[in-house]
Amino acid sequence: MATIKQIDGRTIHQIQSGQVIVDLCSVVKELIENSIDAGATSIDVRFKNQGLDLIEIQDNGTGISPDNYPSVALKHHTSKLSSYSDIASLQTFGFRGEALASLCALSVLSVTTCQASEVPKGSKLAFEPSGKLKGTVVVAAQRGTTVSVEKLFHNLPVRRRELERNIKREWHKVIALLNQYACIQTNLKFSVSQQPTKGKRIHLFSTRGNPTTRDNIINIFGAKTMTVLVPLHLKLEMQPSTVGQSLHAGISAARTSSDVHVVGHVSRPAHGDGRQTPDRQMFFVNGRPCGLPQFAKVFNEVYRSHNSSQSPFILADIQLDTDMYDVNVSPDKRSILLHDQNNLLDTLRDSLMTLFDSHDYSVPTAQL
Ligand code: ADP
Ligand code: MG
Repeated sequence: MATIKQIDGRTIHQIQSGQVIVDLCSVVKELIENSIDAGATSIDVRFKNQGLDLIEIQDNGTGISPDNYPSVALKHHTSKLSSYSDIASLQTFGFRGEALASLCALSVLSVTTCQASEVPKGSKLAFEPSGKLKGTVVVAAQRGTTVSVEKLFHNLPVRRRELERNIKREWHKVIALLNQYACIQTNLKFSVSQQPTKGKRIHLFSTRGNPTTRDNIINIFGAKTMTVLVPLHLKLEMQPSTVGQSLHAGISAARTSSDVHVVGHVSRPAHGDGRQTPDRQMFFVNGRPCGLPQFAKVFNEVYRSHNSSQSPFILADIQLDTDMYDVNVSPDKRSILLHDQNNLLDTLRDSLMTLFDSHDYSVPTAQL
C-alpha cells in the first residue's frame, strides 16, 4: 500500500476552489454579491465573449481600504464574519472569504478599487494563484470596486473545455441569474452588456435604481408582463410548536415571531398570454436568489389547478427570521435548509389557493 501523505497546500487550494467556483454562474454570483455587500447603488456587468474571455463587474460601493489589500484574496479572510455565531444573524451575502481566493486559483483576477477619500486615485491589485498580493499600481478611479476575471478555468483543462462546449446553456443560466438580482434589488441600478469576439458591445438589459420590484420587472421584462401579474403578499402563520426552535442550536435565543411572509408577483391564473418560460420563475430567501424546487412545485401545482395550459411568472421572496434557515449547506449557498419546510409548504399551498380563488377572472386584463 502507498504511504499516506498530506496533500500540499497548493493542491488543496485548487481542489477546494473548484468547489466554490463551479461555473460561469458562480463567478457572476460571487462578484455581484460582493458589490451588494459593499453597499453599491450601481452595478455594471460586462462580458467579453460571453464570459469566456472576460467577466468584469464594476460597482460604486465602499471600495477596499489599502490596509486590506494584502488580505483581500487570501483564503478564509473576510470582513463580514468574525465567529461562527454570526452566521445566525447574517445580513451579508458573503461570509466565508473564499470567492476571491478561489478566483485567483482558477483564473487571472484583478481588482481595481478606490474609497471615497481617495478619489480620483485608486489602486489596481494583482494576485498570485495562492491569493497573495503580487503588486499594486496607482490608477485613475471613481469610488467603488471593479473586479475582472480573465481566462476562467485556464488551469483546469477539462472544465475549460466543458465550459466552452456548453457555453450556450451556461450563458442562458447567467442571464437568468442576473435577471434575478436585477429584479429583487431595489434602489440599485443594474446594467448588463456583452461584447462578442468580433463586433460591438451589446447592451442586454438594465434597471434604473427603482424603488420597487414592480418597476424592475417592467424594466427587464416589459410593461406587458406586468399587466398579467398580481401582487403576492402572503403571511404564513406557522404552527406554534415550531416557535423558539432554531437551526443553529445553542446560538440563537428563542424567537418571539415565527411568521413567514411571501412577497412578490405571480401571474393571474387566467392571463391567456402564452406560456411563460421557467426563467421567469424566481425564488429568493430574504432577497437571496435560491433554488427552491419544492416551492416552485407548490406554485405550479396550485396555478395549474386554475389554469392547466400555462406556467406562471413567479417572483417570490420568502421573508423570515435569519435563524429559521441555514445558507451554509453547499459551497455556492444556492441550496438553503429551511426550518420546518413541509409545514411551510402546506401553509403556502392553502394561501395560494385562497389568493387565486379571490381573483375575478371574468374581468379582461385590459381593464385591470
Ligand atoms: P466574503 O464575501 O465571504 O467576505 P470574498 O472572497 O468574496 O469573501 O471577498 C473577500 C473580502 O474582500 C470581502 O470580505 C470584502 O471585504 C472585500 N471585497 C470583495 N469584493 C468587494 C467589493 N466589490 N467592494 C468592497 N469590498 C470587497
Ligand atoms: Mg464574497
